[in-house]
Amino acid sequence: MGSTNPDRIPAIQWRRQSETLGEMRANGWRLTSRCRTCMLEMVVNLDILILLKGEDFSLWNRTAPCRRLYCPGIVDFWAVPHPRALAMKLAADWPPGVPPRVQRSA
Ligand SMILES: [Zn+2]
Repeated sequence: MGSTNPDRIPAIQWRRQSETLGEMRANGWRLTSRCRTCMLEMVVNLDILILLKGEDFSLWNRTAPCRRLYCPGIVDFWAVPHPRALAMKLAADWPPGVPPRVQRSA
């Protein structure tokens, strides 16, 4: 990606590089989740998530229920793709020019 500041690269370009959990792990991404209501932040353990969902599972544009007791909120997923410094929300359209993949359910 040349000399461009990695923190200025838009999410859709990162999605082009890493669509699946397996690709994110291979590329050294760090993931967190954050609740929109109570702001609870949690580390997403990629190894465990891959065991549960499989390497081909994608977290892009997904949400999940908050896991804090009695919180009705939903969480978004955030990532710090290597070599970025700042977290970005895992929200982006499908990158143009990338062939669609078959989403395997796990
Ligand atoms: Zn919450």
